[in-house]
Amino acid sequence: MLKGKVAVITGGTRGIGSATVKKFLDNGATVAVLGSRQETVDRAIAKLKEENPDYPVVGYWPDLGKYSEIEEVFLDVKERFGSLDILVNNAGISARDKIYDYSVEEFSKIMDLNVNAVFLCAKAAAQIMKAQGGGVILNTSSMVSIYGQPSGCGYPASKYAVNGLTKSLARELGPDNIRVNAVAPGVTKTDMVAALPEAMIKPLIATIPLRRVGEPEDIANAFLFLASDMASYITGTVLSVDGAAMN
Ligand code: NAD
Repeated sequence: MLKGKVAVITGGTRGIGSATVKKFLDNGATVAVLGSRQETVDRAIAKLKEENPDYPVVGYWPDLGKYSEIEEVFLDVKERFGSLDILVNNAGISARDKIYDYSVEEFSKIMDLNVNAVFLCAKAAAQIMKAQGGGVILNTSSMVSIYGQPSGCGYPASKYAVNGLTKSLARELGPDNIRVNAVAPGVTKTDMVAALPEAMIKPLIATIPLRRVGEPEDIANAFLFLASDMASYITGTVLSVDGAAMN
């Protein structure tokens, strides 16, 4: 579905990002994995190469708070592989503190990665995509961008902002043939969720109509669809992939 396409995936070293990297590779894309540290990026790439030594995958570890570093990486990808067709803004963090204990620093840290970095990466990618005649930008929202959550207000606030960026950039960049969409995962079985005790997981699952948490691959499938030409007339959408959970 992505034959000949070149993708950049932030936070591609584990969880949803790592499943998306593999899904894109298995569907014919060349993938640049972005992570926060060289060590984790190298490890993620070594693991992929163990599975398939021919995977066209490379790694970078720019500071996602610095536009110049992001731009340098994206231009390098374009130079090495001839284009930058797909950007997946996946890197994200959360915190669950109540507002009474929520520090300004923590709030800013969440906004820096979940919102500012999405803006910076979209800005750097859009320049290249416009010049080459088009592209796809995909953002990672969350089901909490629909319902909020009863603690950790910074995280849902950041994901509401991601939805705003998605819808606005879709309108702004549509004339440049750049589609912009988001995927809003529900509870997804990444390391953190997988480590939760059975006693916590069971009642949680009971509230989800599909009676299971999402797998990283469920989210990767949505990214694959939205990145592909199958979604050629879809832009400005926030696609829920959450088993109809209403947290
Ligand atoms: P994860 O913690 O397993 O992975 C996060 C990724 O982001 C890692 O690759 C990490 O290296 C990267 N990252 C973290 N801080 C970074 C930084 N400062 N600079 C660059 N990269 C950094 O998380 P996940 O569960 O796979 O989440 C991926 C995305 O999905 C996030 O945006 C998250 O908000 C969203 N999401 C997750 C769930 C869930 O239940 N897992 C639900 C809704 C939305």
